[in-house]
Amino acid sequence: MVREISHFVGGAARAGASGRFGDVFDPSTGEVQAQVPLASRAEVEAAIANAQDAQPAWAAWNPQRRARVLLKFLDLVARDTEPLARLLSSEHGKTVADARADIQRGVEVVEFAAGAPHLLKGEYSAGVGTGIDVYSMRQPLGVVAGITPFNFPAMIPLWKMGPALAAGNAFILKPSERDPSVPVRLAELFLEAGLPAGVLNVVHGDKEAVDTLLDDDRVKAIGFVGSTPIAQYIYATAAANGKRAQCFGGAKNHLIVMPDADLDEVADALIGSGYGSAGERCMAISVAVPVGEATADALAEKLVERVAKLRVGPSLDDTVDYGPLVNAAAVERVTRAIAQGVADGAELLADGRGLTVPGHEHGFYLGPTLFDRVTPEMDLYRDEIFGPVLIIVRADDYEAALRLPSEHAYGNGVAIFTRDGDTARDFAAHVNTGMVGINVPIPVPIAYHTFGGWKQSGFGDLNQHGPDAFRFYTKTKTVTSRWPSGVREEASFVIPTME
Ligand code: NAD
Repeated sequence: MVREISHFVGGAARAGASGRFGDVFDPSTGEVQAQVPLASRAEVEAAIANAQDAQPAWAAWNPQRRARVLLKFLDLVARDTEPLARLLSSEHGKTVADARADIQRGVEVVEFAAGAPHLLKGEYSAGVGTGIDVYSMRQPLGVVAGITPFNFPAMIPLWKMGPALAAGNAFILKPSERDPSVPVRLAELFLEAGLPAGVLNVVHGDKEAVDTLLDDDRVKAIGFVGSTPIAQYIYATAAANGKRAQCFGGAKNHLIVMPDADLDEVADALIGSGYGSAGERCMAISVAVPVGEATADALAEKLVERVAKLRVGPSLDDTVDYGPLVNAAAVERVTRAIAQGVADGAELLADGRGLTVPGHEHGFYLGPTLFDRVTPEMDLYRDEIFGPVLIIVRADDYEAALRLPSEHAYGNGVAIFTRDGDTARDFAAHVNTGMVGINVPIPVPIAYHTFGGWKQSGFGDLNQHGPDAFRFYTKTKTVTSRWPSGVREEASFVIPTME
């Protein structure tokens, strides 16, 4: 009998009642290791009701007391990092080392959110008129929800829970149904850290659960991360229903290689950021753009050498560079994209299709794939592949290289490798993309700055983590207060001004 995963509502595990389940695989073996319940509308509504009941008392705790729960939670995550990382790795397929990093990047945002007493401070202007002071305060929205993707089952839920809870909201998480166990463990740890029951709930599910969160008036904000079509759907529906929404989508991240760059350093950076986690990262570099034919030829040679040495295998094996993809559908989708690239005339330098790992013949593996001479019209360039596929698009000069990411439909991350400060500075100023790396291949900003892509990679006007997270999860109330000290004014029929 396979393990049955539970929802986590009102501070307790709740077995699924809808009768609908999804399979949770062990991608390294291809076996079903658990069943995840897919919540009905009624089950999601029950979670919302729990959150609604618990939120006012939580919001009434002073911010420092709420922050202490986050600090205690951080201790518990530190205690449990190893089992959490192994659980994460076994459901997602990323290596244990990468799973630890997934948890750690989430932890860093909770550490930042523990600064809530400072971040929630309002503004004050004394004496704006006779006896008049103005101040503003940040108040929680109430019940808010997060809908998160499979590829960072710890980091992205924590990016949302940390600031939302610290700001005094109750939170409902609808994690990916493909690797749902770690989010539940995180909610259990929050309860153990002293979070009142009902303040944090996890409901598993698919479109039915998501649509319930979108439709329900009690849910005031939705934070989404996932693919672009779903991000657009959720953003449009949430907005039409009067909710605040921030929705982050897919990506096609370029790395520009200037002729003066150290090509060994560049090749290592491309291998790590292109194939790490089997390319299933929204900040993976999937397009290398060498400038000039000589740079391109030399880089391609170095990449081919390195790709041949990559070790692919089960995610719990510490000696592999990357593990399997998340499921068989992902392997099929990426395999189709590779075939399309070949049909479109791109030059296949390394073909990862059909990889079998001895002893794990049914696992969802794909070897590293490398294409050269890809052109901007090809699907390989236009579409997000989300697999271990790196493509080279050759550019004649810096201007042509700058245009590629700037004109691409996605605008998540981008990088440039160069020794020239002028070029780097010009690039950072002009590239039409949300996050930029200069000699840094995966420019995921640290917790106290914000993370967010542009164009088809992000919908909404506030980013994730950093001060934007507190802006997103709070509403500002502004109070104008007058204590006239005995000065009595006549009724006025003119709007007050500051003359
Ligand atoms: P996905 O869009 O398939 O799923 C994301 C979430 O939406 C899941 O919780 C899923 O259950 C839900 N969902 C799926 N279909 C739905 C539907 N029809 N209606 C309502 N909800 C639905 O994404 P994924 O495959 O889990 O994650 C990979 C994608 O996420 C990639 O495109 C990747 O680039 C993107 N991503 C983006 C960022 C970022 O910050 N921009 C970060 C991580 C991942």
